[in-house]
Amino acid sequence: MKSRDKKKNGNDIKKRVVKVIFFPVSLLVYVVKTVREKAEYSIRLKLSLRHINILVKAMVGAGLCVILVFGGITILETVQEDYHALFDIINKDKLDFSEIKAYSEQKDIPVEIYDLNNNLIFAAKPVNSYGYHHIAGIVWSENNLFLGINRGAVISGENVQIMIYSDIREDWKEIIKISEIILIVNSIFLLLSVLSTAFSGRKIFQPIKEMTQTVKEVSEKNLNLRINVSGSKNELKELALTFNEMMNRIEDQYKRQRQFVSDASHELRTPIAVIQGYTVMLDRWGKNDQEVLQESIDAIKNEAEGMNELIDKLLFLARHDNSTFVFEKEEFSLSEMLSDIIKETQIIDTTHTIKGSINQEVSLFADKNRMKQAIRILIDNALKYTPADGEITIALEKENNRITIGIKDTGIGMSQEELGHIFDRFYRSDKSRTKEKGGHGLGLAIAKIIILGHNGKIKVRSKVGEGSEFLIILEVPN
Ligand code: ADP
Repeated sequence: MKSRDKKKNGNDIKKRVVKVIFFPVSLLVYVVKTVREKAEYSIRLKLSLRHINILVKAMVGAGLCVILVFGGITILETVQEDYHALFDIINKDKLDFSEIKAYSEQKDIPVEIYDLNNNLIFAAKPVNSYGYHHIAGIVWSENNLFLGINRGAVISGENVQIMIYSDIREDWKEIIKISEIILIVNSIFLLLSVLSTAFSGRKIFQPIKEMTQTVKEVSEKNLNLRINVSGSKNELKELALTFNEMMNRIEDQYKRQRQFVSDASHELRTPIAVIQGYTVMLDRWGKNDQEVLQESIDAIKNEAEGMNELIDKLLFLARHDNSTFVFEKEEFSLSEMLSDIIKETQIIDTTHTIKGSINQEVSLFADKNRMKQAIRILIDNALKYTPADGEITIALEKENNRITIGIKDTGIGMSQEELGHIFDRFYRSDKSRTKEKGGHGLGLAIAKIIILGHNGKIKVRSKVGEGSEFLIILEVPN
């Protein structure tokens, strides 16, 4: 039992030692893994890493350029100096080996001469114990660093290569020194850049953070929340503004939806109350009273019809709002349809003078039933808001590719203020509200949806007490 414990303990210690030894490696792996994972979804980190990457490349590039240019210039100067020092001696027609040797030793510039087979034929202060052949380049020899350059010459009619070795140890030391300075300066600069990138990144991405927070907080109850855009002046401000505009639209739509539901319930409440009232009356007195019975039946029938009509309108609007409504378009004769509507209206309504001026054949590609519905709404309004004996004129015109349907009445007309609202849902002017025939205020809203859905326009001209004219304008291909 005890020996088993000892073995277990020993294994634990071994594991711990291995862990301690490999701690730096595992730390590095952990850091790299975390940064990689974060970089996958963090735009901020990705941009920062890219920024640092470019910065490092620029620094290395600039550093190398400086080192190369500086190193090149210093080495070139040394080599040139040595070459010029020997120029007169090695440029003679007849080379004097002893003169070269004396000069080489005096100036401390090694010189070697090779024949064309790379055989050393002369050496003053040789630098290359390994039989260096005549190719220009850097030569490391013991503790020395030389740069050899070669030059062709002719000795007693034979071509040779003269190698002149310049001692570039001091130059090299200076290059190292400059490199160290560049490395230190660049490292400090890089560190500062990393810090400033981290801070500026936080500032730049602040609107996104705010946006996320705002979006998280937005709910049905606080649709009025908006992002603070003061201060920022970049693309993110545009994003924040767009977000705020979107919130405006959503809030507006939500309010309108709520208003719609409340108006619709309100409209339905009246007929239901009337029906309830009559049923109570029937229950109490109507069972045996023929008069009450008939009145109640008529009233309930009337209200039910009204409700049916209202529900149809509400359904139309709801389908339109949910974008589940589609127009079923077909080619048909608009002139024929209008003539039929005029005839029907003349039969139904005998209190007004209804005139029709359909003088040309006009065909249209549209949703026939919906078009009829829109025109009917305008004619019904003209009838509703024109006193008896008034005149209603229905006209159709086609000029080039523009069709105009006009419905003109000599009715009560509308003020400028009213005209601004007549296409709003559930809007009724005070006059029509009190009027017995007044509708639910949905007709024109529906007519507008139908006409706009056919890329058309509705225009109104009206004067209080004089009458109104509604124009439906449709563009058709030639
Ligand atoms: P309604 O069903 O109440 O007629 P509409 O949407 O069709 O609803 O019309 C909205 C309001 O516009 C009406 O209540 C009325 O005040 C006004 N209006 C529409 N057409 C006319 C018209 N030809 N003459 C005068 N007022 C009109």
